[in-house]
Amino acid sequence: MGSTQIVVVGGGYAGCMAANRLARRTDRDDVSITLVNARPDFVERVRLHQRVAGTGDAATPLTDLLNPRIRVVIGAVDRIGDGELSLSGGATVPFDRLIYAAGGAPRAPEGTFAVGDPEQAGKAQQVLAGLGDGARVTVVGGGLTGIETAAEIAETRPDVSVAMISDGEVAASLYPSARRRVQRELDRLGVTCERGRYAGPGDADLVLWAVATDVSELAARSGLAVTEDGRVQVDEYLHSLSDPRIFAAGDGAAVPGQRLSCQTALPQGAHAAANLARELTGKPPRPYSMGYTGQNVSIGRRRAVIQSARRDDTPIRVWFGGRAGAAVKEVVCRMAKTVAGTGRYAWLPAPR
Ligand SMILES: Cc1cc2nc3c(=O)[nH]c(=O)nc-3n(C[C@H](O)[C@H](O)[C@H](O)COP(=O)(O)OP(=O)(O)OC[C@H]3O[C@@H](n4cnc5c(N)ncnc54)[C@H](O)[C@@H]3O)c2cc1C
Repeated sequence: MGSTQIVVVGGGYAGCMAANRLARRTDRDDVSITLVNARPDFVERVRLHQRVAGTGDAATPLTDLLNPRIRVVIGAVDRIGDGELSLSGGATVPFDRLIYAAGGAPRAPEGTFAVGDPEQAGKAQQVLAGLGDGARVTVVGGGLTGIETAAEIAETRPDVSVAMISDGEVAASLYPSARRRVQRELDRLGVTCERGRYAGPGDADLVLWAVATDVSELAARSGLAVTEDGRVQVDEYLHSLSDPRIFAAGDGAAVPGQRLSCQTALPQGAHAAANLARELTGKPPRPYSMGYTGQNVSIGRRRAVIQSARRDDTPIRVWFGGRAGAAVKEVVCRMAKTVAGTGRYAWLPAPR
């Protein structure tokens, strides 16, 4: 085993990218890399609405995605201590340096299922499969995850009625004309949209929670400096503000100006790994910088809207939809997984 022990916590987009990039950029004789993840699979969270609707699975064994040099430990980290992780079963994993990539942990109200949680998405699939003709499904959230979920179910199960509840405008992050296109597609699929706050299941047979804002409580529990919502506070190099041995990346990191997405998790994981590799060879870390290209939203399996944006994430008039959009969206999802599995990634810098 190498003399410097690096541990990556979390095997999502940020964690797999970071571990694979470290494997490419460090010497196996000097450095050992361990990735700790709560489950044995890499879950493509961007496909969890497909898991709910039964149109595609989202899981790949981590060992298929990670460089063989990386040791995989399956277990939930209970606490990050001083140079040692404690797992919930009592085992410990020592570390010299750590990349925190524990990501999102959606919490849904009682009686609803969080689309962003792999296990709850699986349970929701079972409930949906058991629903009969005329049953009612409610999707809470009018952002891109809510749209993808409502559309996927409406397309697959035309026998159930699908309603979406949103306290803001549906698809608010898109350019107005793209937003109207999304609305037309939802109308075509028979999804009804209601403006308001969720006030309980009412007569719905299945309620899906598609409001993804919560993150793992691990960082707060471990005493790292976190924001009010539990994200690790980082400096411009992605070091934890309270422990410079630790880098943070992905949904669980509070990187200013970054939207929760795999579009940001991948470059953050790559950058944290590259900076860590530099520090191990005595080189100074480099500041993190990332510019956006756009957003995309699937509307069932046959339609999508692909929205371009300025590098500051402002949507612009340039967008397209339809079947070409669906094909592009599928390529983007596949590419996100592929690059996480290679550790190779390039991205635009932030605007000046
Ligand atoms: C339905 C849906 C559609 C989406 N579509 C898009 C899209 O089109 N484009 C886009 O850019 N983004 C999209 N997103 C958001 C995107 O999926 C997330 O931003 C992204 O997954 C964040 O990656 P991550 O690596 O930070 O975290 P995650 O993917 O959440 O990975 C975190 C990993 O850490 C593990 N973990 C957590 N806590 C512990 C612990 N205590 N111990 C051990 N392991 C732990 C988890 O098991 C998980 O494997 C979508 C999300 C959803 C739910």
